[in-house]
Amino acid sequence: MFDLAIVGGGINGTGIARAAAGRGLRVLLVEQNDLASGTSSASTKLIHGGLRYLEHGWLRLVREALSEREVMLRMAPHLIRPMRFVLPAEPGVRPAWMLRLGLFVYDHLGGRQSLPPARAIDLANDLLGAPLKQRYERGFEYSDCFADDSRLVVLTALDAAERGAVIRTRTRCIRAERGAAWRLVLDRRGRRDVASAHILVNATGPWLKLFATNVLGDGALLPTRLDKGSHIVVPRLFDHDRAYIVQTRDRRVVFALPFERDFTLIGTTDQAFAGDPSGVAPTADEIAYLCDVANAHFRKRLHPADVVWSFAGVRALYDDGSKRAQDVSRDYVLSLDQREAPLLTVYGGKITTYRRLAEQAIDRIAHIVKAGPAWTPHSCGVALFDGAGMGADRRRRAVAAHETRLAVFVHRARTLGKRHGCHGRGRMRECRAGHRPISGPCDTCIDHRRRTLLVTASQVKRICPITFSRSTRVRRPRARSCSMPR
Ligand SMILES: Cc1cc2nc3c(=O)[nH]c(=O)nc-3n(C[C@H](O)[C@H](O)[C@H](O)COP(=O)(O)OP(=O)(O)OC[C@H]3O[C@@H](n4cnc5c(N)ncnc54)[C@H](O)[C@@H]3O)c2cc1C
Repeated sequence: MFDLAIVGGGINGTGIARAAAGRGLRVLLVEQNDLASGTSSASTKLIHGGLRYLEHGWLRLVREALSEREVMLRMAPHLIRPMRFVLPAEPGVRPAWMLRLGLFVYDHLGGRQSLPPARAIDLANDLLGAPLKQRYERGFEYSDCFADDSRLVVLTALDAAERGAVIRTRTRCIRAERGAAWRLVLDRRGRRDVASAHILVNATGPWLKLFATNVLGDGALLPTRLDKGSHIVVPRLFDHDRAYIVQTRDRRVVFALPFERDFTLIGTTDQAFAGDPSGVAPTADEIAYLCDVANAHFRKRLHPADVVWSFAGVRALYDDGSKRAQDVSRDYVLSLDQREAPLLTVYGGKITTYRRLAEQAIDRIAHIVKAGPAWTPHSCGVALFDGAGMGADRRRRAVAAHETRLAVFVHRARTLGKRHGCHGRGRMRECRAGHRPISGPCDTCIDHRRRTLLVTASQVKRICPITFSRSTRVRRPRARSCSMPR
């Protein structure tokens, strides 16, 4: 018998599993697909306070998210990196004084410690203005962070498992029967299994309603709405490491982020959504909209055919009655139903605030099962980077050393890719076995190379799958862009 059974292997489910296991609870987590296969790998990948939320007056959410940004930077410095965002002042949308005021509040609200403050930029004369349309004269630059969202989920799950949680992927919860305890019927690739637990957590994100109706047989939920957001990935629009946040005429914001070295990630849209979120993808209209926004702000012309990859995610939000999708609060709500065996349901949430959500979830049930004190605020490092016990400086040095080794490896992989095309993998094996040096021409494949020389970044990623894991999710560009160089 488990203390806690969690359904959903996204950031919220794995975060709760990790917090609970560390507080001494017996935990089972089931995920129907792979970890982070839902919304938690389809986010904009920002660890941020949400600058836009300030004009809605969501100060509590922004403050909490900004202070979590600092905690997350300490927790997983290899996955979460600081990023500077360029915000051009858009004539006729929000006046420059309003942006300046917003950034002042943003800088001071959440106890910013390690990130540099906002500054004004003269876009007409600064290189950061070069990729933008000529009309921009003024702008600002501020700090937030970029994260590898799906790796964060995977490492959180690994850490939960190290602390004793049982994590079962490819395991769908198909029935949950409520009595003095929960009896769960699980389906792992056609094989049935049963588990029982004192408390059930519904952390199924956008599947929340479907789970309540079809699995629990009890559709009684707080008012909920589903919102879909789409992103596109295109060959890079600019050559530096800053990101852009541009304002649209309908007062929304769209991000253009440097992504996987050679690409720019552009998102997101906001659309009401209904139905099953499995396999959700951007529509042609959404892709065209994001291209139009990019074309309205950047000099480089973008066409839907330039899109090398696109993805969409759906979030389940507590419905506060707002008319427009972008006005609905992104805050999370935890609802505990104790009619019989307790059921905790998670609404909304952000990657940024998952650790806080997880600790609060355990606090909500601590009176039912005996849970130890909260521990994650002081935790440093997750699973693969177990920095526990290290000081901040030593941790940073360890991460830097790791990155250097990785950079050498990536450089070698690229060299192999460029020199040997699709023979790179075999060549790598030969180099590992010590038969050949890594550089130098490969006599046997000169002819083949002529045909396959144009090795794109994503092909290198295929050659080197360990480094560029599934979680980067950059797909191979279409055949059109892989044509033979003349
Ligand atoms: C477009 C978009 C952009 C976003 N950008 C950001 C951002 O930049 N920064 C930020 O902080 N937040 C962002 N968010 C918010 C954040 O991504 C989500 O709040 C978060 O990922 C939700 O995580 P979750 O664990 O609740 O849901 P999910 O990640 O969707 O996980 C739910 C899991 O439950 C599983 N499941 C469902 N039913 C069953 C079942 N019967 N049995 C077993 N498993 C089941 C699913 O397979 C799924 O993996 C964004 C959200 C969206 C939609």
